[in-house]
Amino acid sequence: MKFIPSVNLQCISLTEKRDSRFYEELNASPNWWESKSFFRYPALLVSAHYVSKGIKNDTFRKNNNIPDDDFLVMGDSGGYQALSLGISNHNIDKKSLLWWQEKNCNIGMSLDEPLAKGDISLDIQRKFKHDMNNVKEAIEYRRKELYPKMKFYGATHGWNEKSLKKYHNELPKDKLDGYGIGECTIGLNDSEENILSRIALECQLNDDKKPMHILGTSSPIIITFLSMLEEKEGIEFTYDSTSYMRGSRHHSYVIDCLDSKSMTINKNTTEKQLPCGCPVCSKVSIDDMKGSDGQSALLIDLHNLWKEIQFYDSLYDYDLDVLKKRYPKKKSIKKIEQYQKLGLDKFVKMFPYTNKFQASSVDLSKFLGKDFVDTSYKIKDSDYET
Ligand SMILES: [Zn+2]
Repeated sequence: MKFIPSVNLQCISLTEKRDSRFYEELNASPNWWESKSFFRYPALLVSAHYVSKGIKNDTFRKNNNIPDDDFLVMGDSGGYQALSLGISNHNIDKKSLLWWQEKNCNIGMSLDEPLAKGDISLDIQRKFKHDMNNVKEAIEYRRKELYPKMKFYGATHGWNEKSLKKYHNELPKDKLDGYGIGECTIGLNDSEENILSRIALECQLNDDKKPMHILGTSSPIIITFLSMLEEKEGIEFTYDSTSYMRGSRHHSYVIDCLDSKSMTINKNTTEKQLPCGCPVCSKVSIDDMKGSDGQSALLIDLHNLWKEIQFYDSLYDYDLDVLKKRYPKKKSIKKIEQYQKLGLDKFVKMFPYTNKFQASSVDLSKFLGKDFVDTSYKIKDSDYET
């Protein structure tokens, strides 16, 4: 299990917003991979979307002092960002993207186009075709002899068993090193319970037990489930999250991750001291976090990141009692218990994955076959108890 923090762009020299004098005086760096950082952590995820201007050069890693050894850089393709910002990703130069990944990343993700709310079946078919072509082209462009260490993951998409199976069946799985699992549909979020079903199904379809990356999750229940699956199914998991950036978003300083306790630190905050002795808070003062500038927010982010890293580590023992005490009513915890009891195959059958996503069924049958609609089983409340 490995948590990969999505990089806060203010940490790296893509933006010049940060006050370097402040860090010089402290003799510290906000980059958690540098020797002077407040704390070291050996991984980051960056989306190619944000480095697109620099994609033609190979100096991302070098420019940002990211170590060559014992440090994992995951390079997401930027397909998700392109789509959520309403930019077409067809113009992305796929060869440059792959070559950037090869030169700078330990793991590269295929360029995909996630489904979006309102997609009709023609969109789905087009996206599926593009995704498959992108994976195949990337494999063709790969220069394995020059960059043998870079691993290449194929993204999968689908809203039910049948559509996910179609992905897994048509991906050139023997040429892939792992899979990236993202949000099913932009604008139509899955419930936490349903995400558990999706992950379990993807594990079942991952018959060669290749590593899997879960894009964008910070849910303690999902992370607990992943660590359980890793042990029981023998599949290696990584996951990334931007949730520590709530400092940048809301000036929200995390007090306790499990209890979701936090405080707002801004110019109106009357507290004189930080209630934390982490490597960040022991070096800076609460006043350093009160400003309305990006730098104050970045310090809060780094404290939050430290807290999250410790918290996620504590979840890998998967102590369900702790989670149950915190979330006594969550069905998703009961669902994990069902997995423990039933094992993977029975669990997948009992809790089928179905996202609310619905395109016109008429020509979807051409895409997925006649019986593409999951009508097989409706989950009852009592299923969680048996
Ligand atoms: Zn702290």
